[in-house]
Amino acid sequence: MDFDLQTEHIQIRDTVRKFCVNEVIPHAEQWEKDETFPRDIIKKMGGLGFFASPFPEKYGGTELGFLANIIVAEELARASLGLACCLNMQSGTCPMTLLLNGSEEQKEKYLPGIISGEKLGCFAVTEPNAATDVAGIETKAILDGENYVLNGSKMWITHASVFDAGVCFAKTDPSQRHKGLSAFIIEGDMPGLTGIAEKDKLGCRSSDTGQIVFEDCKVPKENLIGEEGQGFKIAESSLTYGRANIAARSLGIGQAAVDASIRYANEREQFGQKIGAFQMNKQIIADMVAEIDASRLLVYRAAWLQDQKRPSSNESTIAKFYASEAAVRAVIGAAKIHGAYTYSSEYSIGRLYRDVMLMTAGEGTSNIQRIIIANNALGWKK
Ligand SMILES: Cc1cc2nc3c(=O)[nH]c(=O)nc-3n(C[C@H](O)[C@H](O)[C@H](O)COP(=O)(O)OP(=O)(O)OC[C@H]3O[C@@H](n4cnc5c(N)ncnc54)[C@H](O)[C@@H]3O)c2cc1C
Repeated sequence: MDFDLQTEHIQIRDTVRKFCVNEVIPHAEQWEKDETFPRDIIKKMGGLGFFASPFPEKYGGTELGFLANIIVAEELARASLGLACCLNMQSGTCPMTLLLNGSEEQKEKYLPGIISGEKLGCFAVTEPNAATDVAGIETKAILDGENYVLNGSKMWITHASVFDAGVCFAKTDPSQRHKGLSAFIIEGDMPGLTGIAEKDKLGCRSSDTGQIVFEDCKVPKENLIGEEGQGFKIAESSLTYGRANIAARSLGIGQAAVDASIRYANEREQFGQKIGAFQMNKQIIADMVAEIDASRLLVYRAAWLQDQKRPSSNESTIAKFYASEAAVRAVIGAAKIHGAYTYSSEYSIGRLYRDVMLMTAGEGTSNIQRIIIANNALGWKK
């Protein structure tokens, strides 16, 4: 067993780290405060190949693999979780759905723009009345001649008001649940489609999130991904990668909590000593260091399995569940270490505190990950 990273993994980690130090960390707090969506930075990230590693060269990928992609996610989330959220749209669920399920024409048309960061992607599942219950989606897509006519609305969609092209799930047979669901490619400027940004979010404010409303929106027949009724299977196929991606973002924000705690515990003094000298603070730091280390092993294992083209669905679920819960615990620990200064804009801990809960909700909540892990263990996989 080899725990060392390959040279190319170290190189991409160092490149992203340097990029974050120069281009992200100096602005991260202000972007969050002002709800600035840093479009130009995302373009630069695309230009540097940050989204390209899991994709074949013929679509603009670098074929560096999933572990490289996970390392990018971890490093970006360490600097800004808001910015890291775009990574999933540019290299996770959105383009992976196309890569795994799209026709050759669809891949050639859409993948290069998304992977290069020239175009922004989206992955629209969640609705006002259907979140965890994906089969309960109410948006309808009814075939009328050469087009599907979409009516309904999506909610909490990353890149809702800025995306160029993405994947959307709708019911082609509203009388069915799972079997009535289909996947489509939508474009941001289609008539009848409106993207509305959700303003004043609790956290991840530099990430565009919002509603996509469809009012008699005509989506060409050739934008159907796969066949009618395959939507649920298609969503599941890319969620394995999405879960590994959010697990890596959880790892990044957890590591940021560790970094901040160590810095502060070595700087702040009480009773004439560094606060890191107090055993109770040492316990908090030891717990978070150990848990984030364990998260890294789980997350890297899931990505390594993906690179070996081996089944990784259960391992990605375990990584997502553990790393997101460990990140929440690490951020709460960091807040205890920072005490009153958690509330000061002088430190990043307040931002981590506002951002981290998304990790236990996105790509399936912790409850759902627990159900999947337990069902797999019990041999009850549906
Ligand atoms: C910033 C942000 C960005 C997002 N980006 C996207 C995106 O790009 N695309 C997208 O499609 N969605 C996106 N989402 C939505 C996100 O994926 C959902 O929040 C998530 O799926 C959970 O939905 P919910 O929070 O509405 O919870 P609900 O489904 O309403 O569940 C509420 C609670 O009940 C629990 N629960 C529900 N059903 C069960 C059950 N059967 N058994 C046990 N417990 C259950 C859940 O675990 C949760 O704790 C985003 C959300 C945010 C906040």
